[in-house]
Amino acid sequence: MALPQRRTDIGPPHYKDFLPPVIQKNYGDWKYHEVINGGLMVHVANSGDKIWTVRIASPRLLATDTIREYADLAEKYCGGYVRFTTRNNVEFLVSEEKNIEPLVAELKAKKQMLGGIGPRISNIVHTQGWIHCHSACTDASGLVKVLMDEFADYFNEKTLPNKVRFAVACCTNMCGAVHCSDIAVVAIHRKVPRIEHENVKNMCEVPSTLACCPTGAISPDPAKKSIKIKDEKCMYCGNCYSVCPALPISDSEYDGVAIVVGGKVGSLRSDPKFSKLVIPYIPNNPPRWPEVAKAFKIILDAYIAGAKKHERVGEWVERIGWEQFFNITKFPFTFQHIDDFTIARETFRTSAAFKW
Ligand code: SF4
Ligand code: SF4
Repeated sequence: MALPQRRTDIGPPHYKDFLPPVIQKNYGDWKYHEVINGGLMVHVANSGDKIWTVRIASPRLLATDTIREYADLAEKYCGGYVRFTTRNNVEFLVSEEKNIEPLVAELKAKKQMLGGIGPRISNIVHTQGWIHCHSACTDASGLVKVLMDEFADYFNEKTLPNKVRFAVACCTNMCGAVHCSDIAVVAIHRKVPRIEHENVKNMCEVPSTLACCPTGAISPDPAKKSIKIKDEKCMYCGNCYSVCPALPISDSEYDGVAIVVGGKVGSLRSDPKFSKLVIPYIPNNPPRWPEVAKAFKIILDAYIAGAKKHERVGEWVERIGWEQFFNITKFPFTFQHIDDFTIARETFRTSAAFKW
């Protein structure tokens, strides 16, 4: 008797197994899509089939109860088909038009926020923050709550010249999509890690701690059976703290955030862009970070006033010029804005692990 074949390398299941039947049937054969309102869009296939997307903002840090609630709604109205976007929106994929109205009504009754489709802000992608990550320099979820409170109108009702993507990363490791977002926060440390010598010898491996520093700032300290850090070489990246927990870098007084502008992923009309620094440092001011919300408002208002229809934030800034951007927003232009990085062509030390 032949034994059933044993599956040993299962891996992630194929994404096509999770597509709603309408999408499977019309895969790659769509005619157009239309944004009906901030929380609803329809895709129409060449065959005449349609699928509607109802989008809500998730609270990003999700309880299992919340996920169960989404799953129950999806079972009830969409044959179980629901998806999470990369920016933490939840999309219910509805194949039957009659289910849209009751789904929307139930979402509203549950006080879910519908929106994020079309020329609006979408939900904000963010990282773990103080609640979870050891190297956080700010509280990503707290900051995002503030921004979503401030700009909720642009999520569901008001429109913008084009879509605007916000992001928050709570350190320069940048688990959030800050580099490719229209307006974003990246949190920064500004102090050299503290060395807890007693703990270094008990908790850390000295060679790997030395090797992890991108600037070669760490060297052995045999007298103390520990390590030492050359302050002027440290760029406060926090890498060493990930490798050696005896080098804490968080500082309640000096940590804060920088604001970057003009990134995008899409290649429509212009190439994808990296965002660029506009405010080098704002101190942490929890729980509501009013200075960050104000800076976002200044940038968004200037964009609304000056951008042409369909221009993304980065395209608008490049059309008017960065000099004009700083004139309009009145953000001070400082030495931190000057990007003087050059590839070391003579030494060929072009990796991230450079030394000097
Ligand atoms: S961005 Fe930094 S602090 Fe935030 S979750 Fe990622 S590694 Fe942790
Ligand atoms: S790893 Fe980063 S934070 Fe640690 S010493 Fe080196 S530059 Fe400074």
